[in-house]
Amino acid sequence: MADPLSYIREDEALAILLALVRAGGVNPPGETANVIRELAEHLDADGIPYEVLPARPRVDSLVATLAGQRPGKTLLLNGHVDVVPPGANWTMDPFVGVFRDGRVYGRGACDMKAGVAAMLLAQLALRRAGAPFAGHLVFTAVADEETGGELGTRFLLQRGLKADYAVIGEPSNLRVELGNRGLAWFRIAVRGKAGHPGRPATGVNAVAYAGKLVSAIADMKFSGRNELFEVPTPSITVTMIQGGVKANVIPDDCVVTCDRRLLPGETTGGALAELESVIADLPQPGITATVSTLHAMEAYVVSQDEPVVRALAGAHARVLGAPPQYGAKGGGTDGSFLYHEGGIPTVLYGPGNVELAHTADEYVDLAGVVAAAKVYTLLALDLLAVDQG
Ligand SMILES: [Zn+2]
Repeated sequence: MADPLSYIREDEALAILLALVRAGGVNPPGETANVIRELAEHLDADGIPYEVLPARPRVDSLVATLAGQRPGKTLLLNGHVDVVPPGANWTMDPFVGVFRDGRVYGRGACDMKAGVAAMLLAQLALRRAGAPFAGHLVFTAVADEETGGELGTRFLLQRGLKADYAVIGEPSNLRVELGNRGLAWFRIAVRGKAGHPGRPATGVNAVAYAGKLVSAIADMKFSGRNELFEVPTPSITVTMIQGGVKANVIPDDCVVTCDRRLLPGETTGGALAELESVIADLPQPGITATVSTLHAMEAYVVSQDEPVVRALAGAHARVLGAPPQYGAKGGGTDGSFLYHEGGIPTVLYGPGNVELAHTADEYVDLAGVVAAAKVYTLLALDLLAVDQG
């Protein structure tokens, strides 16, 4: 058997990554069909079986399954193929795919076509080498991560996706990230009573109440702290406010939206109750304020002793020559779904600097993509070793 790592070549990594950048996948609207077709062509060329699952027309996700020679565990490599809109200030076409000085530029190059390319390369390497292994190496390329993951990873879980271990190739600069903060988007509907500002006593001002509420939310204190996380504390941010109809009408309604981030140990249900108690501490006659949850993903963290984490750290050390650094993400990922709904120990590890994600002139170092592909390959060979099956 040839060394599987010998099948991971920089020129192929570059060609795949450029093609993935060019295939777009801007979300919204989140149509990923072109990117999925690009991946499917590579899988076809190497005879790896896959299924394309559209949650909606053209909102496609793909599940490619490479079976080993005997039964065993399943390792899932997961990455999203949707990208955020390019925005302004690019010095190049964000979807042409530019390679310069060892870097690939383009919207999604870093977040996270780079990780997806590396995961595909790992599956191709195992296949081409005919490397003996037990169980299954599953690669999922998913839609909808940038708008919540309901139509991507969560959809695949609802359709029966299962695994014993998972790695998400989100940009982590090849740091091993053991989890992510949770998030909850809360909508607070404030109702008062319309009236005439010429006779202020006729109304109850919902906008004025919302103003007091916004400062009370800004004053909220959280006691939790976890230094592993990029942002080591919980946080809450008021992100939208809408109210009023006319300059000379006392407004009877106002809607405040906020974004709450949670550490493991907190729950989105608990965060809702906290917000309700902030409102209860600000009573005003004639005002009602009702909180609803627009979207929620629970925080999670896995132990450094999880087999997938230990194997990943070992694979990283073999490829990079030094043990990895550890951390956990401040923002949310599909890991929340894999961990909480799929029951899968999930670690975040991929090429690229997350600070470049969603920025103009986003790029990734090609060398990082190649290194990640090698790490994923060694990880699979270790976790799915025949003598462990
Ligand atoms: Zn991402």
